[in-house]
Amino acid sequence: MLNKNRLRIAIQKSGRLSQESIKLLTKCGIKINLKQQQLISFSENMPIDVVRVRDDDIPGLVMDQVVDLGIIGKNVIEEESLRRNIDPKKILYTILQRLDFGSCRLSLSIPISQKYINLKSLNNFRIATSYPYLLKKYLDQKKINFNFFILNGSVEVAPSAGLSDAICDLVSTGATLEANGLKEVEVIYSSTACLVSRTGDVSDIKKILINKLMTRIQGVIKARESKYIMLHAPYSKLQSVISLLHGAEHPTVSKLAGETDKVAIHMVSSETLFWETMEKLKILGASSILVLPIEKMME
Ligand code: ATP
Ligand code: MG
Repeated sequence: MLNKNRLRIAIQKSGRLSQESIKLLTKCGIKINLKQQQLISFSENMPIDVVRVRDDDIPGLVMDQVVDLGIIGKNVIEEESLRRNIDPKKILYTILQRLDFGSCRLSLSIPISQKYINLKSLNNFRIATSYPYLLKKYLDQKKINFNFFILNGSVEVAPSAGLSDAICDLVSTGATLEANGLKEVEVIYSSTACLVSRTGDVSDIKKILINKLMTRIQGVIKARESKYIMLHAPYSKLQSVISLLHGAEHPTVSKLAGETDKVAIHMVSSETLFWETMEKLKILGASSILVLPIEKMME
């Protein structure tokens, strides 16, 4: 029997987003006992169930209101949304939060030897892709004629196998394209993993839980982006030191026992401290410079 007050979150079972999704939920304090083959895992300490499926199934589970939330690549949910969207005004899902992993781009690529001037160079091309709706939306807007066929794997070998003139596929580093003699000529969509929610009525209990989860997720992301910086510096150089530390808000300046000239400076910085900046701080007379990761954050 379904417990309507338990929040259901769908995540990818095995693939590029799985480990990061589990890590994020765990960092948010959700204890999950993940048995390998289990479709659904129940959290021991919060009313949350984690449904683990292929990433292609997550948009449908969210849009058909089978689960409340999903962690999914924006590319996958947008593709499904375009596929389903008979009425473009109908909201099928809501993006609650863009996440700090799963970053990639959907790009058009052609053989390295092929000449490319602009998008018109692709006119009447046959393009292999797993994302026909995103591709069509983009090329229709740019008024480019094309043919496509769907490949859900090994897209990158289609041109060398003589099946297509170009491909439209996900890229992160570009190494796979290079290994297959292809060059990226046009980015058509930029994506990251995101937390999405279903539409429709949600009980008050679930609303409170979703808000709590959102605050924690934002705290985890913020903490991962931030560093805690501690150093000693001459009081006379305080302003110069602070101006070197971009992204530092309201530093704490305190006295050092037995020191009249130097002070201790502590701050949370939204940017990492590069070696070059540390060297400049040293020239200003700073010492004992520590850069520490932050475990949790709540503002
Ligand atoms: P499943 O077996 O769950 O269907 P899959 O093979 O379709 O998995 P993955 O390759 O695990 O999917 O990719 C999942 C998501 O990771 C992509 O939809 C995309 O949002 C993101 N991603 C990030 N970098 C890349 C990349 N270089 N190639 C493909 N996907 C990437
Ligand atoms: Mg998939």
